[in-house]
Amino acid sequence: MSIETVDAVVIGMGPGGEDVATRLATAGLAVVGVEGRLVGGECPYYACVPTKMMVRAAEALAEAGRVGALAGSAQAQPDWRPVAARIRDEATDNWDDTVAVERFEKAGGRFVRGWGRISAPGEVTVTTADGPRVFRADRAIVLNPGTAPAVPPIEGLAETPYWTNREAVAATAVPESLIVLGGGPVGMEFAQIFSRFGAQVTVIVRHRILPKEEPEAADLVAETLTAEGLSIRSGVEATRI
Ligand SMILES: Cc1cc2nc3c(=O)[nH]c(=O)nc-3n(C[C@H](O)[C@H](O)[C@H](O)COP(=O)(O)OP(=O)(O)OC[C@H]3O[C@@H](n4cnc5c(N)ncnc54)[C@H](O)[C@@H]3O)c2cc1C
Repeated sequence: MSIETVDAVVIGMGPGGEDVATRLATAGLAVVGVEGRLVGGECPYYACVPTKMMVRAAEALAEAGRVGALAGSAQAQPDWRPVAARIRDEATDNWDDTVAVERFEKAGGRFVRGWGRISAPGEVTVTTADGPRVFRADRAIVLNPGTAPAVPPIEGLAETPYWTNREAVAATAVPESLIVLGGGPVGMEFAQIFSRFGAQVTVIVRHRILPKEEPEAADLVAETLTAEGLSIRSGVEATRI
């Protein structure tokens, strides 16, 4: 198998990797950017951008609900279709990264779609749809593999269809009910969004919600969400699905 020699190989083209790879390419280095999924990573396709569209929509509904107490009367009928359409068309291009790939290539980078691994000192092998490709990086290998949703080892979970953030942002309808396992910011964001769109939401947390925040702040959020109709079960653990 032939080995191609370049200056740098960047594995993982999320916001971090894409930025590094683009800067190196712009500076004139021969750079290969390797991405197994979508250039842009989690943020534009499964995280920051689509979830903020969901949050904004849920906020609009909540604001409409406050009109009665503040400014007269308003009626809002939740409808998930515009949210799903905006995420598909405006945020993710239907989960298509053509524009991002072209942007990187225009900056002078070479893009390879596939999963990279360091196969020898200074060497990266990429498993692509057309077979393996090997690159020798003369100056640097940059690792930016980011994160993947953690799936807790709960009996029965693996055999049950479930959502992570990736499925949740691609939802085309609001479920009747939803159990959110874990009360970090991501879980709480989804909990509030889907609750505001009419799902019966129960949050299950081992200790308390937002464990990295000040307890007073987390208590205030819990109080607010409970008043909105979410059920928060703190200090409990899911043992079986
Ligand atoms: C639901 C959710 C909401 C969020 N909301 C916000 C927000 O509002 N604001 C904010 O600032 N942050 C938010 N974040 C965090 C933000 O998404 C991350 O901080 C950001 O995506 C991290 O960028 P990254 O480049 O480090 O990694 P990632 O975005 O995870 O990208 C890493 C990339 O590497 C690829 N990869 C991994 N291993 C390999 C390999 N071996 N070969 C090839 N490719 C590989 C992956 O496919 C992935 O595309 C949110 C996260 C989630 C999950």
